[in-house]
Amino acid sequence: MKVRMISEVLKEQFGEKIYRLSLSSGCTCPNRDGTLGVGGCTFCSEGGSGEFAAEPAPIAEQIEKAKKLVRGKTGGEHFIAYFQSFTNTYGDPERLRALYTETLQREDIVILSIGTRPDCLDDRMVGMLAELNRTKPVWVELGLQTANDKTAERVNRCYPRSTFEDAYRRLREAGLTVIVHLIFGLPGESEADMLDSVRYLAGLNPPPDGVKLQLLQILRGTKLAEDFARDPWPVMTLPEYAELLRKALPLLPTETVIHRLTGDGPKRLLIEPQWCADKKRVLNTLRTVLR
Ligand code: SF4
Repeated sequence: MKVRMISEVLKEQFGEKIYRLSLSSGCTCPNRDGTLGVGGCTFCSEGGSGEFAAEPAPIAEQIEKAKKLVRGKTGGEHFIAYFQSFTNTYGDPERLRALYTETLQREDIVILSIGTRPDCLDDRMVGMLAELNRTKPVWVELGLQTANDKTAERVNRCYPRSTFEDAYRRLREAGLTVIVHLIFGLPGESEADMLDSVRYLAGLNPPPDGVKLQLLQILRGTKLAEDFARDPWPVMTLPEYAELLRKALPLLPTETVIHRLTGDGPKRLLIEPQWCADKKRVLNTLRTVLR
């Protein structure tokens, strides 16, 4: 079975390595600001599940700053504008249209990638994203995390799977690229539940353009960290996680590109699993799985 990683796909498509710039849209999240309830998803950290995003500032300034950070390590020329933290379609549609249009108009930005919740994608928003997608590729990243509604309730995701299905269908019908996030190791989930989530994605018609997989990270300051301190549960080891990926990846169709296999939480907030902090070891182990 051939696993297609996004880095290879982009290199084929653009003839060079394409890097991500973590940017901030200034949006909050309805699951964090009290609109849907209190506290947000239990695993969500103060940065809204995107700790490396720039501080809200004019977008040109953010991009230049993020480019300097990335260039220091890589020397890249073309980038994905990645709005990861919080819910990047939750806000005034005209403000967001202006922000994303300005971002896409730049020559150094070749793809716009927007992380969001499926309950913040009404037809007007989907229409606006579809319009932008006619100029350059727009990816919409949906944080499903699990296909199991009971687990979703337990982690306070605050929308049912049917909401995901509705948004997913409308996004795909509008021609947008959809990447779905899953988290393995959510409280109460067995291996069978996690693999069921992967099977569920594989069974969507059409299947997702991409998936991001990660093991649950317990981060300081989250509700999950409180639960863990009160009643700790066994956390997967790196070999166990690698074994899970070995079972999960073949379930996905080859047209679904893998965008991520590990979490990217900040070390300073990481409580468990501590092995996630050793990026080199993790990548070496996961490369072996892919081979
Ligand atoms: S939807 Fe995203 S930003 Fe909002 S609470 Fe959940 S993880 Fe955090």
